[in-house]
Amino acid sequence: MCASHCGGACLLKVHVRDGIITRIETDDGEEPQLRGCLRGRAYRQRVYAPDRLLYPLKRVGQRGEGRFERISWDEALDTTARELLRVRDTYGPASIILAQMTGDVCSLNNFGAMDRLLSMAGGYTSPWGVTSFQGGVYASLVTYGTWFCSNTRDDLLNSRLIILWGWDPASTVTGPNTCWYLAQAREAGARIICVDPRYTDSAATFAHQWIPIRPGTDTAMLLAMAHVMIREKLHDQAFLSTYTVGFDRFSDYVMGAEDGLPKTPRWAEPITGVPAATIEQLAREYATTRPAALMTGIAPGRTAYGEQYHRAAITLAAMISSQRV
Ligand code: SF4
Repeated sequence: MCASHCGGACLLKVHVRDGIITRIETDDGEEPQLRGCLRGRAYRQRVYAPDRLLYPLKRVGQRGEGRFERISWDEALDTTARELLRVRDTYGPASIILAQMTGDVCSLNNFGAMDRLLSMAGGYTSPWGVTSFQGGVYASLVTYGTWFCSNTRDDLLNSRLIILWGWDPASTVTGPNTCWYLAQAREAGARIICVDPRYTDSAATFAHQWIPIRPGTDTAMLLAMAHVMIREKLHDQAFLSTYTVGFDRFSDYVMGAEDGLPKTPRWAEPITGVPAATIEQLAREYATTRPAALMTGIAPGRTAYGEQYHRAAITLAAMISSQRV
């Protein structure tokens, strides 16, 4: 598999002669294929990149001076083990922090290998949360009770409107085949809108409309969309009353009953940089096009209070939920 950490893990067929990679192909079997992109198929260039580190190096100059010398693997392992034991015995196991997340190392050697090693050596301190998308995890857990809560990618083919919000699946696929299904959905007539500060490859390739937004202001725009939907009674109150709790308080906040500040598109415009008319249009389109998919990326949630972006998007989805087929 490709371990590029884009959320894909596509299939790679690596041709090797005398221990050297000569060619990389990908899935060419029956659809749906786990078909790799150009980045995955160019993995050979990464493996043989001239500036890739192939052996342990030890600093010999001052820090920042950039002077290193090659050492053996035995010396590297002995040094690391000796220092781990010294720090553990001097300051206690809690003084060792394991700041690892996913990526190539976990694909090759298992995520838990280092945890296991340090646990057997007396314990360690681990970071809190998920470095990639803790805002999304938190929002999903408090709202849905689980973070396994989205439809499979093939369900995009049933959508007539797809909003890619802060997500560029052309570079961060988050599941093989995402772009394949997006392309098919577009060919089948689905309208695709990208809300993103950047004109991404996905916006260039798939989107009928690109709505640039000031980074970190996504929640304000989602609230303003909710304002339009509530004001124009485009939301499904029966569904909300039957299957959710808390919408009345959300509505009070959005409409300004709680703090005297209605979260209108005009309120959101100077915050987000998105024209009020664009916000109104998107709110109406999302509320009246069925079925619609609001696909939220994890980047907008990587901000202060980023979980509110995810919670707002979940709420918007619930506001039209029962209207989907
Ligand atoms: S989509 Fe991601 S996992 Fe798949 S081949 Fe490309 S970089 Fe690798």
